[in-house]
Formats: sequence, C-alpha cells, structure tokens
Amino acid sequence: MVSTWSISRDQILHTCERRYYFHYLAPARINSRNKTLREIAFLKKLKNVPMWKGDIFHSLVAEYLHRVYQKTQLLPIDLFDTYEQKMQDQWKSSMNSELQPNSKVFGQGNELMLFEHFYKGNLSENSLSDAIRGVKNWVSRFSVWVEDVAFHKEILQASQTWIEPQIYGTEAPSFELDGIQIIAKVDLAFLTQEGQFNIFDWKTSIHSTQPARQFNQAEFQAAVYQLWPHLKFGKSLDTIRAHLVYLGGEMVEQRTFKIDENMRVYTLSLIRRSISRMQHFSKVHDGVQLTLNHNTYLTLDDLDFAAYEKACSYCPFKILCQRRLEI
Ligand code: SF4
Repeated sequence: MVSTWSISRDQILHTCERRYYFHYLAPARINSRNKTLREIAFLKKLKNVPMWKGDIFHSLVAEYLHRVYQKTQLLPIDLFDTYEQKMQDQWKSSMNSELQPNSKVFGQGNELMLFEHFYKGNLSENSLSDAIRGVKNWVSRFSVWVEDVAFHKEILQASQTWIEPQIYGTEAPSFELDGIQIIAKVDLAFLTQEGQFNIFDWKTSIHSTQPARQFNQAEFQAAVYQLWPHLKFGKSLDTIRAHLVYLGGEMVEQRTFKIDENMRVYTLSLIRRSISRMQHFSKVHDGVQLTLNHNTYLTLDDLDFAAYEKACSYCPFKILCQRRLEI
C-alpha cells in the first residue's frame, strides 16, 4: 500500500521499475539480517558528485536564510569558506573509506560515501577542485540575486516562513489525497503580510530552452507545490506563486508559476494516475518481502530494467543489476 507520494518518487518509477523497487519497496535496513537488504540500504545512501554538490549548496542557502533572522549583514558567499572546508573533509573521508556494502555501521555517524569513489568512477585529480568551484559559482550568483531582489527584506517581513522543511512526518509540507500523503519537497516558502504565499525551489541546473511540451516536469513540480498551501491551509489559488530559481547559467533565471482551477484538476488527475501505477507495484513489495524469492506475486525478476542505458550510469544500485545480468 502506498502511503506517501512525491515528484521524485514518480520520476524514479518512470526511469526504472527495478530502481523504484530498490529505493521505495525493499524493506532495506543497514542492520537487516538479510545480506541483500543490507546491501540495498547501503547503496541507497550513496551520493553522486552532482547530488553532493547540490546538497552542499542547499545547506549553505538554508544557513544563510536562518542567519537573516539574526540580522547579520552576511551574504551567502561569506559562508562559503566553511562549506569549502566541509567539502574537502567529506571528500577525503569518502576517498579513504573502507566501508563495504555489508557494513553495519555506515550511516550511523557522519560518513559520506560518494558514488564515484565506491564505483571507482571517472574522477581526475581536479575533480574536487572542479566540484568546489562549481558550488562557489552557484553561491556567487545566488549572492548577487539576493541583493538584486532584496531577498532578506522579504524574509524578515514575512509573517510565516518554512526553510528547508523536513520532508517526513505530519509537519512536512504536504496535503492528503485519497488517504495518501502528497509531499512537496520545497526549499523555502513564506507567507507575506499581505497574504501571498511564495514557494521557492533552487535549481543548480540551467533552465531548459527546449520548446516546452504541453505540461513539462517543471510545471508539474510547481503545480504540486502550489497545491500544498491550497489544500492544506485553504489558501486561494490566486494568492499562491511558485518560483523556480535556476543558477546553472551565467545569470540567475527565476521562473514564476501560478495555477488556476483547470490546472488544479489536471494536476490532481496526474498524481492519481501515478499513485495508481505505484499501487500496482506495491504488490511486488508484498510478494518479495525479505527473501527476494519467487512466489505467487510479482518478483524482482518481473520488473523492467531502465529503458535507456544512461539511466544506469549514475544509479547507486547498478552493482545489483550487473550481478544479476552476469548470472
Ligand atoms: S542499474 Fe539501471 S536497470 Fe538497474 S536499477 Fe539502476 S537504473 Fe535500473
């Protein structure tokens, strides 16, 4: 039975059925008695370099936003040195890590295992400095943007603010649909004194200039986010805006979305369709339980591999698929 839904869960199911199983259905735990489930739990914690850079950036921005309330005059870039040191320390610990997929201690402290170190991927001697430079570029552009739009004033004047809110539990930004918790993984939201609800998502990529499909992924994400204040707090749609802020280009690009009643109905129908597909796959979970063996239900062997090879290149679970394909 599916109890939660999110855009990222939907994306993983679209990318690869097996990956969806490993990520969401397998009852994986680091201290499981079952070796395969221990291994899945370990692999779930791997972060690839782009994800790691994104996490560092998001942590820095969250710290900056919290500090705005302390009335410091700092800009995001002023916090960068601490995060650069953190990147160096984490890289070193990941590179020298002896952790193995069956380790029962991984994830209980502050360990980081980068996907590229685990899979002995394509890293050069400049990879760390490139990663640091990449994050610094995003932070520099973000600093210019917050000054240009006087962002700290908006935050200080807001009547309620959510900064990188927890995505688990009843306090998570979410609403209920047919008994399922729909989670909106927003980076920042605030309610202005005039009653406007603003939601922000920081994108470390560039805004795609490809001709938009009828309803693209960014619009879907923005629409789901906007349904949170509408369905949870009863805010009317015309008072809600979602802003996607792209930092991957030379200049920061902010795209603002609003939804109307037609879009609301359409978005809910897309979520319901996605949930219905997930309900089908939850039978796999019931069927495989701890043993990953055959029985009357679907098994892991019934699940499709990714339709395109590129999806596998950064997949943390590829060691499991490679092993299966070698049999
Ligand atoms: S390695 Fe490829 S086929 Fe296997 S789970 Fe990952 S994305 Fe799917």
